[in-house]
Amino acid sequence: MESELCFAYVGQGYAKPVTTVKCSICGKEVSWRAVVSHYMGHGKKSGSDMACPICNSKVKSQEYREHVRKHFAVKREAFYICGVCGKSFVSLKSLLIHIMKTHE
Ligand SMILES: [Zn+2]
Ligand SMILES: [Zn+2]
Ligand SMILES: [Zn+2]
Repeated sequence: MESELCFAYVGQGYAKPVTTVKCSICGKEVSWRAVVSHYMGHGKKSGSDMACPICNSKVKSQEYREHVRKHFAVKREAFYICGVCGKSFVSLKSLLIHIMKTHE
């Protein structure tokens, strides 16, 4: 699954890590260190669920943060690429930990 929110993948190549990323929802320039938590902040609560600001689907609040993180994960051949900074990982799990530690 390729996320539309992949900042690292541009056309045929990967963009270099950038210091700011333009939020596609509010247009604000966000530091790439906080871009994932910024997107999480756009989620709307609906009952016990959260509406994802990226794909509009409803997710359980406990799964919401993990769900948003996955929008920034890109599968490229044998690797998982961080959609924010372009760093590659051998497993989705280690990529999600990287996203949590680096971009939230
Ligand atoms: Zn925003
Ligand atoms: Zn989503
Ligand atoms: Zn990253």
